Amino acid sequence: MNRIPGFVIVGASLAGATAAQTLRDEGFTGQIVLLGDEPHRPYERPPLSKEYLLGKSGREKVFVHPESWYAQHDIDLRLATTVTALDRASQLVTLADGSLLHYDALLLATGSSPRRLNLPGADLGGVLYLRRLEDSEALKSAFAHSPRVVVIGGGWIGLETAAAARTAGLQVTVLEQGDLPLQRVLGNEVAQVFADLHRHNGVDLRCGVHVTALTGTHGHVTAVELADGTQVEADVVLVGVGITPNTGLAGAAGLAVGNGITVDQHLRTADPNVYAAGDVADAYHPSLGRQVRVEHWANARRQGVIAAKSMLGQSVVYDRLPYFFTDQYELGMEYSGYVDADGFDQVVFRGDVAGLEFLAFWLADQRVLAGMSVNVWDVTSGIEQLVGSGRQVDTTLLADPAVPIETL
Ligand SMILES: Cc1cc2nc3c(=O)[nH]c(=O)nc-3n(C[C@H](O)[C@H](O)[C@H](O)COP(=O)(O)OP(=O)(O)OC[C@H]3O[C@@H](n4cnc5c(N)ncnc54)[C@H](O)[C@@H]3O)c2cc1C
Repeated sequence: MNRIPGFVIVGASLAGATAAQTLRDEGFTGQIVLLGDEPHRPYERPPLSKEYLLGKSGREKVFVHPESWYAQHDIDLRLATTVTALDRASQLVTLADGSLLHYDALLLATGSSPRRLNLPGADLGGVLYLRRLEDSEALKSAFAHSPRVVVIGGGWIGLETAAAARTAGLQVTVLEQGDLPLQRVLGNEVAQVFADLHRHNGVDLRCGVHVTALTGTHGHVTAVELADGTQVEADVVLVGVGITPNTGLAGAAGLAVGNGITVDQHLRTADPNVYAAGDVADAYHPSLGRQVRVEHWANARRQGVIAAKSMLGQSVVYDRLPYFFTDQYELGMEYSGYVDADGFDQVVFRGDVAGLEFLAFWLADQRVLAGMSVNVWDVTSGIEQLVGSGRQVDTTLLADPAVPIETL
């Protein structure tokens, strides 16, 4: 057995790499082993559906740290290394080659994986998913010789891919089973803005449709079949129907798993030596008063910091409001807060919605639960303060662009 004292991080991506950096920034001098099953050093995924997919930025831009950074900070980064088991009683993880690693503290930053389509024809060539660097590269090369792109699922990944494909001049159809894309996240009023945006940019957006099969010739997809018998012709199909957290290791080791690995506000599991952060963590959020799992970039980064500090025994709490961003065509958006699909009773707009320069607020009982800025910059901290304050606001003032948010 190879007994290595120190901290082990499973998942060499944004949350894991940020945690490793924080451990060193905080003065930890013990061993840090960062284990990742991908062949690449930690990289950021947002460019994979945006500038990297469009060939506007190169590979070197996606990485979290330069290659030399890991050795310089004495971080034992092991790539193409899958952790297959966790033995909490002995504080050991098992690697795919059968070797064992001891940990004093363990961070599970295993992220999430795309949900797969379980339909006839789903395994045809040209049916693609988008999570990893290779997926983005496969999609980019498919775009080069696939004039007709069909996107299944009108969520963030589906819509960003649709925008990239349209920007590349391709014919794009988006198939969404709900009444509007992003309806469950944004509600009808704001989801309509995204529907209009895509239609305005030439996407054939079809809502309320159910995909029943994919058909093809010579092993390659040629069409997507809908429940009403319609065949939508396709040269490439991108499936974006959500993700599932990679909780297998934690679950098999007897840790509590709900909508992710259950952790407290310190990002610690019920086992005091095991922590979780990023997409995989279902964390207790003290201000929201409930468990929350967030599938966004800022959450992975910020939780990586807090998990590392917790591992060092610091008394820190993760209480940042969920935040995310998207870029689609000429629309750049930031969103802060947390609201369930049926958790608000009013949406207030401020600014020019048709001109795509506005703010939107979701309220319940006149309290702002979440806010979004579209092509309006440097307002996120004001929105976060407003959401965090929990105070009731005058919605006429909230809608008035002349009234500074900080004064509400
Ligand atoms: C195409 C795309 C675009 C996105 N765009 C945006 C955006 O615009 N805005 C935004 O806010 N968010 C965006 N996101 C979401 C954001 O990238 C994620 O929230 C973030 O990557 C989560 O980081 P993570 O470190 O928690 O997990 P992940 O990035 O999923 O990394 C987990 C890593 O752990 C590895 N792993 C899992 N199990 C094991 C194991 N047993 N052994 C070893 N390694 C293992 C995985 O292979 C993976 O490398 C986007 C995501 C994608 C895919």
